[in-house]
Amino acid sequence: MTGAHELDVTIEPAGLLFTCPVDGCGRRMAIDREGRYTLIDRGDPTASHRGGVGGVEMDPPQVRTA
Ligand SMILES: [Zn+2]
Repeated sequence: MTGAHELDVTIEPAGLLFTCPVDGCGRRMAIDREGRYTLIDRGDPTASHRGGVGGVEMDPPQVRTA
């Protein structure tokens, strides 16, 4: 499965939760109030994920090592 998936956004007390509604994907990721990005479920790594709410736009994820 490839293509662009539109993420659903849920506003949580700790930040924003992004979930992909596409069958067979199910990517989940969170952004906390400091803007830190956490990938919870990778989902389909070949799809490009986008979504935004309240002026927050998702860029393609970048992997960083501490
Ligand atoms: Zn997806």
